[in-house]
Amino acid sequence: MNKEIATPLRTKAILEKYGFSFKKSLGQNFLIDTNILNRIVDHAELKEDSGAVEIGPGIGALTEQLAKRAKKVVAFEIDQRLLPILKDTLSPYPHVEVIHQDILKADVSTVLKEKMADLTDIMVVANLPYYVTTPIIMKLLEEQLPIRGMVVMLQKEVAERISAKPGTKEYGSLSIAIQYYTKAEVVMIVPRTVFVPQPNVDSAVIRLLRREEPAVIVKDEDYFFNIVRASFSQRRKTILNNLINSLENGKEKKPIIEQCLHQAEIDPRRRGETLSIQEFGRLSDELLANL
Ligand code: SAM
Repeated sequence: MNKEIATPLRTKAILEKYGFSFKKSLGQNFLIDTNILNRIVDHAELKEDSGAVEIGPGIGALTEQLAKRAKKVVAFEIDQRLLPILKDTLSPYPHVEVIHQDILKADVSTVLKEKMADLTDIMVVANLPYYVTTPIIMKLLEEQLPIRGMVVMLQKEVAERISAKPGTKEYGSLSIAIQYYTKAEVVMIVPRTVFVPQPNVDSAVIRLLRREEPAVIVKDEDYFFNIVRASFSQRRKTILNNLINSLENGKEKKPIIEQCLHQAEIDPRRRGETLSIQEFGRLSDELLANL
């Protein structure tokens, strides 16, 4: 018998043994293809002394493949029903630790300090629950964890928005929020047939490699992100009109906003979706100094 967890037969046997029923509300779509899993893990470029952090191990399909390549694996799972199953399926891998916690509430920084202090290379690798992909990624990036990056599976459409370049219809505030911290690239498109149950959207794997410094250095990060959001508030409008409509007393301040665009060398007739992160950075610093 094939011993890998991620085969249709073994997965079926595990689910039956424990009478497990999927919870759609927890984004439970388990992978049943070891080839795909191995390719996902390849993209993480783990070394013998790397640590892997997983979100949502399910019955351990990806966890097992990570365990074969990493020195230590820490996996956060919200669903208590999966804990006895994971204890069983992952028993051959003592260097895997499952933590029963909602990743959005977990103090990941402290967990990493406690469990992975001796490891110099840490990657997040996960098949994310699709109902919370963006909050999970943003939380892990904003907390400035000591990680090299992430290789995560998510909805294809979201992966494309995250990695989008200026001038495309997918480019928006999500692309900037994530590319501010990382270099983002879609590395795999994954068919629905390799999951049980099959999700009703297409999937993709995205690799996010953390930048040593943000993509642009700005005077005030919160202000920068506010300006980015304001610039995309109505995609069909020009950057000038979006800023006038979204910023406080924007109409009265039109001449100053125009002047700031000019100083930042941005044509006021352009649309937000054409601006690079660096241009948004220049604009945000000008507006902060003059409004
Ligand atoms: N890694 C497994 C695989 O690839 O087969 C399962 C992936 S499944 C798409 C998502 C997993 O995330 C489920 O096991 C689910 O219970 C878990 N999960 C959902 N929300 C979570 C949260 N907020 N924190 C931690 N785990 C969560």
